[in-house]
Amino acid sequence: MSDTRTDSGKVVLVTGASSGIGEAIAFRLATEGHRVVAGARRTDRLDELVDKTRDEAAAAGGAIEAVRVDVTDRADVASFVESALARHGRVDVLVNNAGIMPLSRLDSLLVEEWDRMLDVNVRGLLNGIAAALPVFTRQGGGHFITTASIGAHQVVPTSAVYSGTKYAAWAITEGLRQESDPSIRVTTVSPGVVTSELATTITDPGAAEAMRTYRAHALEPDAIARAVSYALAQPADVDVNEIVVRPARQR
Ligand code: NDP
Repeated sequence: MSDTRTDSGKVVLVTGASSGIGEAIAFRLATEGHRVVAGARRTDRLDELVDKTRDEAAAAGGAIEAVRVDVTDRADVASFVESALARHGRVDVLVNNAGIMPLSRLDSLLVEEWDRMLDVNVRGLLNGIAAALPVFTRQGGGHFITTASIGAHQVVPTSAVYSGTKYAAWAITEGLRQESDPSIRVTTVSPGVVTSELATTITDPGAAEAMRTYRAHALEPDAIARAVSYALAQPADVDVNEIVVRPARQR
């Protein structure tokens, strides 16, 4: 069965939907009429999102539900996708958005934070691809959307590992695009500075101080949600591969 749907009524799975960009993506897409499965570990925050979104989503013909998922756990991500498939009969879009950013200089040797970034930002993405690719192949259509970063395009002091994970996310997503059947669309969205809880994962005092200045000009998360909505809304033969969205004042 090929994907003939264009801009509404899709089954959309979003990871990292309990705050920031993922929350905005889930809210926007549900209230545009899609059936959204919002995933993250903090189910209390997901429940709040469902409460504030449900009525507006229903009025638009959409829906939203919360499902706990830890993207670092391959079996958990597989069941996130499989259970959505069982409930909805198909999965049209997976937004691999979950991410963390505990920035630090390499000589701080915060090696456990390096590992956590690799686990969430890289292995989490791979777990999502492994779970959804067979489903998209079987059903003859699907759309992968990766939230990468400006950090996928540049490295600055303290961003070595984070940028490394985001360069990897960019490369993996580009490879997925090249290898995929034309019925499967692949989009990388690279945000600049966006208001969210991301910088709260920084424990290194120097990196935290530098971020306060760097993050002075930030977009609201819905700016990224609109970019995702645009990519999703294109006809099935149009694959928006990359979108970079910065605050106009960010250099
Ligand atoms: P937030 O910290 O607000 O959101 C991060 C989300 O990721 C949360 O919902 C969190 O949920 C989830 N998450 C973290 N670890 C896991 C895990 N193991 N399993 C499942 N979910 C997890 O930050 P943003 O909204 O800013 O970040 C979203 C994405 O955007 C990230 O990939 C980030 O790198 C990227 N980005 C953000 C930018 C910014 O300036 N804000 C700029 C460029 C890119 P929970 O803790 O409940 O599991």
